[in-house]
Amino acid sequence: MSWKFVSTWHEPLRQALIPRKGDVIGTSEWAELVGQLPGIGSQAQFIHPSDHCINMNNKGACDCAETDRALVKQISRGQYLVL
Ligand SMILES: [Zn+2]
Repeated sequence: MSWKFVSTWHEPLRQALIPRKGDVIGTSEWAELVGQLPGIGSQAQFIHPSDHCINMNNKGACDCAETDRALVKQISRGQYLVL
């Protein structure tokens, strides 16, 4: 996945995560949340928390990775704190 694809979903994701600020969410909960984004369809499977993470920077991650605009912080494997 390209950087542009990942970043397309940054803002809708950010808005979806606002009510969950401070919560720790697991991967299944993340998938559920992403699945509810309008227009996401089958692209949901490509939206990973690790691409919008303050303490991780994967190849092809969103440009928010490792910045103060990141959406989540990985606290353990598969567990993310919503920032
Ligand atoms: Zn992002």
